[in-house]
Amino acid sequence: MTSHRLAPDFARFDLPDGRIERLYLHWSAGRYDVPSSAYHFVVGYRQGRLFAEQTHAVRENMQALREDMEYAAHTRGRNSFAIGVSALSMLDATPHDFGPQPLTEELVDALCAMCAHLALRYNIAIDADHVMTHAEAAILDGYFGLLPEERWDLARLLPHPAAVTPAEAQATGEALRERIRRYLAGR
Ligand SMILES: [Zn+2]
Repeated sequence: MTSHRLAPDFARFDLPDGRIERLYLHWSAGRYDVPSSAYHFVVGYRQGRLFAEQTHAVRENMQALREDMEYAAHTRGRNSFAIGVSALSMLDATPHDFGPQPLTEELVDALCAMCAHLALRYNIAIDADHVMTHAEAAILDGYFGLLPEERWDLARLLPHPAAVTPAEAQATGEALRERIRRYLAGR
C-alpha cells in the first residue's frame, strides 16, 4: 500500500478484531484543531501541521446499537458495525464559500489514505454500499441538503456557485472511493 506521511499516526490507532462492515466519511463543519468524539478518527491541522488521531474506541460500534448505549454517533441510523472518519474543517461553510477553515486537498488526501488503512484492517470492500460519504448516506435516508438538520458532507470538494445536487454528491463519493482504491493498490 502506498504510504502516506501520516502512516506512523495510523499505525498507532487501536483497531481490535471484530465486526466492522462500513466506513462513513465526514467533514466536521468545525475548526481544524477541534476533534470530535462523534467520529472514531479525524484528520486536521494543529498549529498549521497536518495530524491524524483516534477520537473514539472502535469497539463501541462493533455491536447492534441502541440509543442508550455509548458509541460514536457519526451517521444517523448507521452507526452499528461502522466507523466514522472526519476531516476537521468547514466551519461556517456553504457550497459556494467554504469559509475560514475550508476543506483542503491535503485533508482529502489524508482522509482517503486513512480510509485505505482502515479498509485493509477490516476487509471492507471499497464500493458505494460499504464506503460512503455522509452526503450519500443522507441521500439514501432522506436528509440530504443545507438545512440545519440536513447534511451535505463531502458532496463537493471545492466551492462553486452552482447548487449542490445528489448526482454531484454521488460522483464525488465515487471519486473519493477511487482515491482510496489507489492507496490500496499502491499506485
Ligand atoms: Zn457528517
